[in-house]
Amino acid sequence: MNRVMLTGVRPSGNLTLGNYLGAIKNFVDRQESYKSYIFIADLHAVTSYKEPNFLKESVYNCIAMYLACGVDENKTIIFKQSDVLEHGTFGFIMTFQTKMGELSRMTQFKAKSQGCGKEGVDTGLFVYPTLMVADILLYNTDIVPVGKDQQQHVELTRDLAERFNKRYGNTLNMPDVYVDVIGNKILNLQNPAEKMNKSDDGNNKGTIFLMDDLNVARKKIMSSVTDNYNKVHFDEDLQPGISNLMSILAKITGETFESIEKRYEGKGYGDFKKEVADVVCSLLENIQERFKKYNNKELLDKILFNGANDARIDASETLNRVRKSMGLN
Ligand code: ATP
Ligand code: MG
Repeated sequence: MNRVMLTGVRPSGNLTLGNYLGAIKNFVDRQESYKSYIFIADLHAVTSYKEPNFLKESVYNCIAMYLACGVDENKTIIFKQSDVLEHGTFGFIMTFQTKMGELSRMTQFKAKSQGCGKEGVDTGLFVYPTLMVADILLYNTDIVPVGKDQQQHVELTRDLAERFNKRYGNTLNMPDVYVDVIGNKILNLQNPAEKMNKSDDGNNKGTIFLMDDLNVARKKIMSSVTDNYNKVHFDEDLQPGISNLMSILAKITGETFESIEKRYEGKGYGDFKKEVADVVCSLLENIQERFKKYNNKELLDKILFNGANDARIDASETLNRVRKSMGLN
């Protein structure tokens, strides 16, 4: 039987270079070897309020961008999470396998609840990881290619799958996370202490959106924050800005850090930034050209319709197995 690969994205804005390098590229590079699923996590997007029309447009935009990035609609099942009702039911069931402590320790929840205190945090922000657990386990997933920020969620998925299987007998398949060594956390170009996020402000000079005008993207890279060492060298602690640019270059071209360091020995940051800008702009140009073909709602609706039908069959099979194990059938 084919091994299964699955990944997801929140329709919460335009995709970034971080999304591409941390998750999409790893997926695209492997889609030949797996039974593959991509879901647009619209239920995860509404854990905080989204204007309905913005949400709808974001869904179309995300699928079109994934296709433009090389996801093959004939090889990969592409669907919208809320179209497959099994996600909600199974997510609810998986919430009952989870401890308050496990959810309180999730990085996102800890970060967001610091400001307003637990009393003021949306419940969605607390429980959404159990929905992610369900998203992954419904498809008997073997591998989940994601950025480093999502690793904790796949680890929770493994813990809960094991707990469920111990309680109810062997029912759920154990997934592995795939976080690549290079490019797993692309940093904000203006603030390399922070991750690049697609929900960042559209004017954010530190975030490269895949649809950015090429001149704008070039400017963002050329004016990215670096350091005073004046040495192209990979050291994430001392030189986070330069190391981030090196990760971007290495992930796109496949060149090693050692080789990049060697080529720039004794040279300044200007030339280096220019090469990174050239490589990124050529990637963006390619994606933007392909985007035109997929920016077609009729085509995207058809893909979503077919994808949901296929996904539903697989998801309901798992949910039926779960119900049987639990005595809910
Ligand atoms: P949001 O701000 O809405 O959370 P996001 O950019 O974090 O947006 P997600 O939809 O949460 O994007 O994540 C989609 C995928 O992209 C995940 O696999 C995530 O790990 C990956 N990813 C997101 N940001 C980065 C980044 N800066 N570097 C590498 N991978 C990333
Ligand atoms: Mg995110």
